[in-house]
Amino acid sequence: MAKTDLSYYSQLILDWYDENARDLPWRKYRTPYSTWISEVMLQQTQAITVIPYYEKFMRDFPDIKALSEAGIDDVLSHWAGLGYYSRAKNLKKGADYFTQLHNGMIPDNKSDLIKAPGIGQYIAGAILSMAFNQPEPAVDGNLIRVIARLFALMIVPGSSEALRTVQAKLREMMPCDRPGDFNEALMDIGAMICTPKSPTCDHCPLSQVCHSHQLGKETDFPLKKTATKVRIEERTIFIIFSENRIAVRRRPDHGLLGRLYEFPSIIGHCPEESCTDTLERHFGIQREHILSIRALENDSFKFSHLIWDMKAFQVDLNSSLINTEILSLRETEYSYGTELHPDIHQAPLQFYEIENAAGLAFPTALKTYKDYLFQAITEQKQSHASH
Ligand code: SF4
Repeated sequence: MAKTDLSYYSQLILDWYDENARDLPWRKYRTPYSTWISEVMLQQTQAITVIPYYEKFMRDFPDIKALSEAGIDDVLSHWAGLGYYSRAKNLKKGADYFTQLHNGMIPDNKSDLIKAPGIGQYIAGAILSMAFNQPEPAVDGNLIRVIARLFALMIVPGSSEALRTVQAKLREMMPCDRPGDFNEALMDIGAMICTPKSPTCDHCPLSQVCHSHQLGKETDFPLKKTATKVRIEERTIFIIFSENRIAVRRRPDHGLLGRLYEFPSIIGHCPEESCTDTLERHFGIQREHILSIRALENDSFKFSHLIWDMKAFQVDLNSSLINTEILSLRETEYSYGTELHPDIHQAPLQFYEIENAAGLAFPTALKTYKDYLFQAITEQKQSHASH
């Protein structure tokens, strides 16, 4: 086989995979369902992080029927910490879709697969190649990088041209007998060897045929994307306790962190001396009911397009409120220092027992403040023990 023959490239890749494949739970016993779940989890999340989530998810929702019958809250709580929650919602919608339209089965053809919620070209390619042994490429950012470097392609990740070019190259290289292994091998090479900033070409099975390596310009390929601007949003979070309860609300169904729980918050940084006014004006909490306000640590969280720059306060309220006004606390979303205005965040604040609130699905962005719940639970237990 000539070294310029693309089937020679494939052989190098598969030989390397046979020796070096990562030991991952979704590779042990493949079904279309397990491939779908694992590939959705692996989008935007590293394999090492996904493993415990995948194992628990598959234990509790072992098939489409179980996932379709599960409540969305249950599915979201299995996702808490993985981020990009629309993936979990799409899995649930996808299970309903397969149940209703495909008799609870995952179809083995691309045109039906990509009609399912949340399934695009990449997931369809992964399912078809890995679970149905069909010669379909599964192109994600890792594969675009590896193939761009392998052939020194002047393509820009994220562009439709890059996708088309890489798909065409992969179709030329794809071995008919092991398409799933071929795709997985390239994913492993992208994750472990041909990394974005420092590819370890000495360990790469493709080094003898890699064009960018021969040029000594590995990291010049693919071309750089022009940076997208990240917006910084200041927020003030209020952790409002009333004896053994805490105020939480649910975010709207759609948009950032949809349907997850959060603490009442406002956009903007509220000075400590203005907290009483803010709580009264915007949440309807009268000042005589506030026992104390204390500043908590600042935190920040980066989403793909947005950074939350958070300051926070713990507010303790008079417990006599629990059964009366507190349940009718109003809330609107607004910015500090501006007029009240109605917004999409109209879900009412609710007071939950702290232990119950700790079990709700909060986003990772609020992890620092959710930890105050666990701290409060510990303090409660210590106080009960000492009485
Ligand atoms: S030789 Fe280097 S640049 Fe080329 S594919 Fe391998 S790791 Fe990437």
